[in-house]
Amino acid sequence: MRAQPEGSHYVDGAYLAGAGERHPDPYPATAETIAEIAWATPDEVDAAVASARRGFEVWRKTAPAERGRVLRRAADILRRDNRAISEIETLDTGKPLQETLVADAASGADCLEYFAAQAATLTGDHIGFSGDDGDFAYTRREPLGVCVGIGAWNYPIQIACWKAAPALACGNAMVFKPSEVTPLSALSLARALSEAGLPDGVFNVVQGGGAVGAALVAHPDVAKVSLTGESGTGIKVMTGAAATLKHVTLELGGKSPLIVFDDASIDQAVGAAMLANFYSTGQVCSNGTRVFVHEAIKDAFIDRLLARTRALRLGDPLDETTQIGPLVSAGHRDKVLGYYEKGKAETTVLIGGGRAEVAGFENGYWVEPTVFDVASDAAVVATEEIFGPAMSLLTFGDEDEVTARANATRFGLAAGVFTRDLARGHRMVARLRAGTCWINTYNLTPIEMPFGGVGRSGLGRENGGAAIEHYSQVKSVYVAMTDIDAPY
Ligand code: NDP
Repeated sequence: MRAQPEGSHYVDGAYLAGAGERHPDPYPATAETIAEIAWATPDEVDAAVASARRGFEVWRKTAPAERGRVLRRAADILRRDNRAISEIETLDTGKPLQETLVADAASGADCLEYFAAQAATLTGDHIGFSGDDGDFAYTRREPLGVCVGIGAWNYPIQIACWKAAPALACGNAMVFKPSEVTPLSALSLARALSEAGLPDGVFNVVQGGGAVGAALVAHPDVAKVSLTGESGTGIKVMTGAAATLKHVTLELGGKSPLIVFDDASIDQAVGAAMLANFYSTGQVCSNGTRVFVHEAIKDAFIDRLLARTRALRLGDPLDETTQIGPLVSAGHRDKVLGYYEKGKAETTVLIGGGRAEVAGFENGYWVEPTVFDVASDAAVVATEEIFGPAMSLLTFGDEDEVTARANATRFGLAAGVFTRDLARGHRMVARLRAGTCWINTYNLTPIEMPFGGVGRSGLGRENGGAAIEHYSQVKSVYVAMTDIDAPY
């Protein structure tokens, strides 16, 4: 199986072969090499930023409605090419086609469409100081310049769209660096944007590891960096960006609570807990990995959970009936298996806990969906982000207790509450320390809704109108309507 792109990078409206060292890109289900990707040299990083600077000069002068039309056409192209891009995403990430067909390029298209509409409707404010003929001020919403997007590997094209669409809607240019383990689909986005009529240089892709990301963060001609990644990487990026006082948006990790009260529908809550831990083989930042279940329903919850977990279908990711794929890389599989060993020492393993054997895919990076029954909140598997299909089940007695325990983490990305008592649902989410909360559902992130974290889970917001604030700046203009009254 091959998915070799025409070039490793995309700069100035065209693929660029790249002169840097070439790295194999494996299919996580089999470990077969599907492409070889050159990592950007320092000169190529400079060339991409220079291309974005030229692109910015064209794009910032382009009428906002025309920017919107380009983004809208790109949305249509992603939808047209959804199956082909989904197959690339499945080969690159190992996520089953059942998911990539509906969750990746499709959500990227929604994002482009949403910000296309925003582009055409961006406005400033009028601020009056006195009567009709008095002084006033107005504000202009202006782009920042060249923005850098740095992506994680779990939702490669969605992350690229979540960063590119608001940036471009506001008139910025972008250089995007995908994760080194999922380099392919950002190139599909770049090609779609060119086909949609985006001027050359406005959206560029460069490949490479952390060093390429760090070079972009340090680059003096870059105005803003938006990272999706681990909290530790967020700290490095913020530190690197501080030297030149760049704007920063950070979408980082989490250890989010999902709280199930004894009046909730157990079937609904079990379904949500499974989605919140096993979808994308658990590689979702906002996952509800600490599932707090009220002690009165613990046994019934576990019975349903185990029955449904046993029925999960692991298998060929390209088979649309497969529900669970491998993890993204051998290194990540080893990290997750390391957590499974810690879980075995500190908790009761209710199901899973090891490598998964999948016939025909013996060399892939498979692990079993796993549930830990956790007696102590201090257990490593209940405090650290595992980023695999690993659920920690905890029990609680009342609202105050579970709120304090749910908030006892430095992360604060997301939280969920299941209850039929709506007043309690709203009361709980008001008390939970998290950037994004759900009542009676989990992990839904429509593009219209701002998304992001507090604490070690990040800074700033993506999506919704909030994203516009992070890709534009306000210029205030004072207009004098009368002569200046100078005392000298
Ligand atoms: P990493 O933090 O390892 O990497 C994220 C990106 O940063 C990659 O492109 C990486 O390059 C790059 N990078 C690494 N070091 C540096 C550096 N010093 N300077 C600049 N860039 C650098 O995250 P993962 O890819 O492992 O993704 C998983 C993490 O992402 C989890 O913690 C998850 O919670 C989080 N995440 C957060 C989301 C959110 O919206 N809040 C959504 C999805 C994931 P390379 O890969 O080549 O090393």
